[in-house]
Amino acid sequence: MPTYEYQCMKCDEVFTVVLSLAEHEKKKVSCPKCKGKKVKQQISHFMTKTSRKS
Ligand SMILES: [Zn+2]
Repeated sequence: MPTYEYQCMKCDEVFTVVLSLAEHEKKKVSCPKCKGKKVKQQISHFMTKTSRKS
């Protein structure tokens, strides 16, 4: 199952959730700390490998 990383807009808590694709599409994700529904998804670490040296 894919994992998704979210950050809470209310308390800045970053948490990881394991969701099926169907669950992810419903976007019923809430913060485990403050139960807030205002969360934004973080971009996967796998996608953000920037190892460029200038
Ligand atoms: Zn929160």
